[in-house]
Amino acid sequence: MVNPSYVSLFMAHIKAKNPNEPEFHQAVQEVVESLALVLDRYPEYRTARILDRIVEPERVIMFRVPWMDDQGEIHVNRGFRIEMNSAIGPYKGGLRFHPSVNLGILKFLAFEQVFKNSLTTLPMGGGKGGSDFDPKGKSDNEVMRFCQSFMNELHRHIGPNTDVPAGDIGVGGREIGFLFGQYKKLRNEFTGVLTGKGLNWGGSLIRPEATGYGAVYFAAEMLGTRKQTLDGKICLVSGSGNVAQYAVEKINQLGGKAVTLSDSTGYIYDEAGIDARKLAFVMELKNERRGRIKEYADEFKGVVYTPVDPSLDYNPLWNHKASCAFPSATQNEINAKDAQNLLKNGVYLVSEGANMPTTIEGVKLFVDAGILYGPGKAANAGGVATSGLEMAQNSMRLPWPKEEVDQRLHQIMRSIHQACMQTAERFGTPGNYVNGANIAGFLKVADAMMDQGLV
Ligand code: NAP
Repeated sequence: MVNPSYVSLFMAHIKAKNPNEPEFHQAVQEVVESLALVLDRYPEYRTARILDRIVEPERVIMFRVPWMDDQGEIHVNRGFRIEMNSAIGPYKGGLRFHPSVNLGILKFLAFEQVFKNSLTTLPMGGGKGGSDFDPKGKSDNEVMRFCQSFMNELHRHIGPNTDVPAGDIGVGGREIGFLFGQYKKLRNEFTGVLTGKGLNWGGSLIRPEATGYGAVYFAAEMLGTRKQTLDGKICLVSGSGNVAQYAVEKINQLGGKAVTLSDSTGYIYDEAGIDARKLAFVMELKNERRGRIKEYADEFKGVVYTPVDPSLDYNPLWNHKASCAFPSATQNEINAKDAQNLLKNGVYLVSEGANMPTTIEGVKLFVDAGILYGPGKAANAGGVATSGLEMAQNSMRLPWPKEEVDQRLHQIMRSIHQACMQTAERFGTPGNYVNGANIAGFLKVADAMMDQGLV
């Protein structure tokens, strides 16, 4: 039985101690609501103050990142690394380069990462980092100089057995390359200190595909509980970056039809479906030319482009008839009104490629409606899981073939789904993947913290 006064007291304390960090408060609240079920049943976690300890980062690093643009002008950005929890393995989590980045956003992401990494079944702690640097519109040389300056500080805090960053929004293969090059130069060692590396210098096959593929594998598992498949299902996808692209690829492979993609300027609706040929156009547009999604509507017939309208209190992308939704852009992109629109339009499966894309009110609507709702920390865990597989290959100095990595990814997504289902049931809320993911992720980390004493 959830004790609401416990949750509200705990949240009041978190808000007072971490002011101006609304995304962090939101992420903690969602988890604490689930964990109230655990703390009632196992008071030893309460006695050991595990919750108070798990919300406090083990270490926060903030640093100056000065760099010079192509015109010789000097800029100063702020760099961060949040080392949240290392109870079950080295800190692991991506780097985000986006102008919106601040301490609270990275703390929310690092906090989520702890539970997600625990769910993967691999030995990885949780961390996250990044900068308020905006790679958009910058030349390759500017991005390189920024990455080198960022690594000039970060290198002293990370290492293959300490903290292993990866990519996230604004950090793809190009940025990981520049970061890795500078780490190697400074430390004089070739080691698996970053994941998402290029294939011919330590990267893993399937790592670029893993988050999107994993979110679709998770969706297929959820549909399986209702004896259904993705075949013939209309799917709404947001974003058009790494996660969105490979979600669309896997939806197509499993017989579904993706009809939307977006970026921060607008979205496209393609009733005919984003097939393999159109997806290849998106990949070239986004990964090489670094253009805007609007160009998709200029290229293909019968496509509607809708620019972002900041006066709206909802996102029209979520207001189309469909069965499934794969939010794959950013946090809080589905608010309560969007959630209502999705339900009204027949969506009964939401698999979150992005981290915390749904507000707390939106999550409540999905859970109350009893739809198949896969929260990000379970549904998008395939990315970090495959990063874990990249670390294993780096340690062995032995690359695995594509089929092997994909099979392992698929198996991990099945295990995560199973763990969520079984844990939700064990704590009296069958079918509630939110409780399942939060509690299953928590128990492994909490037990390790108990074993390791007060550190
Ligand atoms: P990405 O390649 O940089 O793509 C991000 C996409 O989302 C772009 O289309 C971007 O549009 C859009 N976007 C970003 N911020 C936005 C905003 N504030 N409003 C509207 N659109 C926005 O990043 P990604 O790796 O695909 O990451 C997408 C989401 O998945 C994030 O929540 C990330 O934390 C999560 N995730 C990623 C991984 C991974 O392995 N990459 C793993 C787990 C979770 P613009 O280009 O216009 O900004």
